[in-house]
Amino acid sequence: MHDDRNDEDNIPILPRLLIVDDDELIRRTFSRHFGQRAVVKEAASGEQAREVLSTGFEPHIVVADHWMDGMTGIDLLRHCLALSPRTRRVLLTGDGQTDILEKAINEARVHHFVKKPWNPVELNALFLQMFEMIEMERKNELLAFEVKYANASLQRALDDLKKHRVLLQKDLDERTQELLEANRRLEETNARLAVQAFRDGLTGLYNHATVVARLEEELSRAARYKAPLSVLFCDIDHFKNYNDRLGHATGDRVLKAVGVFLRLGSPSVSPSRKSDIVGRYGGEEFIIILPETDKAGAVIRATRLCLGLTKVDVPGAGEQPLGCLSMSVGVATFPDDAETVAELLRRADLALYEAKRAGRNRVIEAVRGLP
Ligand code: GH3
Ligand code: MG
Ligand code: MG
Repeated sequence: MHDDRNDEDNIPILPRLLIVDDDELIRRTFSRHFGQRAVVKEAASGEQAREVLSTGFEPHIVVADHWMDGMTGIDLLRHCLALSPRTRRVLLTGDGQTDILEKAINEARVHHFVKKPWNPVELNALFLQMFEMIEMERKNELLAFEVKYANASLQRALDDLKKHRVLLQKDLDERTQELLEANRRLEETNARLAVQAFRDGLTGLYNHATVVARLEEELSRAARYKAPLSVLFCDIDHFKNYNDRLGHATGDRVLKAVGVFLRLGSPSVSPSRKSDIVGRYGGEEFIIILPETDKAGAVIRATRLCLGLTKVDVPGAGEQPLGCLSMSVGVATFPDDAETVAELLRRADLALYEAKRAGRNRVIEAVRGLP
């Protein structure tokens, strides 16, 4: 089929008309008549018409006389039907040729018959109508093509959108994974920071701030339930000696060992109770809070710890001034010695000082009334 798509949409293209008749006058009449409205080609026989058709000329309308030398009009139109079924086929017949009408319809699917001599007005009307139909069909085809094209580009846009959504979803999944991972790391760091915030880095015991806070809590609980509470203020004896003789790193190892001992005990000393609170107060000083423990109980626990520590095996213990690792402990008890945290600590510290003064490696309890 001839491709009209390159033509400007609304500029009608001229329909193509092939008039086949051995009568030159008739051919001329058609050319003259429709030459303005159509591209008209003439052929003087069926054979000549076939030649024209074989050159690539694709007529919208073929008008053929039936009786010609050689090929008849019906034969030619049958050939046209096979070539391009949409071509409009018009057969010119003479008077009294009605017998061929049936054959023309059956074999060549002829659309129109024009009987010679024709009425020019009728002929004109018939052809104008055909031209209009052809133009309408052309426009419809154009429209159908446009719809098809629009559908195709719509489909492409939809496909693109789908691809985009898949990519977006993938991106989102990756981002979610990243966020989850970042969140997990953040939680880990937070947990570590939280531990660091209330633990002493070297010994893993509660740090100064925490142990004081816990003491405040436990003291108010003790006051509320009218229960006793004791504090052991422990200080390693001649600790400076370790650092001086064996170096700071060994000193650290000793501090760690003391921390483990105060919390978990040793073969000869039971571990601290779950309710007991052990903390590093600073340097080589440790505090143990013993809730619901009176002075006598606290002194027993302190004495066991004191004695137990001398048996803990750490490097260089034998070279210490006292011949072993040791500590001095001051014991103060609520409500006997003090009623506030600060006063309780001061009393315990004073008792510790007394223990040092009395020769170290011992437990001294606070005495109420003493400064
Ligand atoms: P005393 O028997 O009178 O308590 O004597 P001492 O040597 O234990 O006491 P002093 O207060 O003179 O010395 C404490 C030493 O503890 C000094 C300091 O360098 C050391 N020290 C404090 N904190 C640390 C620590 O984290 N690691 C180490 N290795 N040493 C520490
Ligand atoms: Mg000290
Ligand atoms: Mg000391």
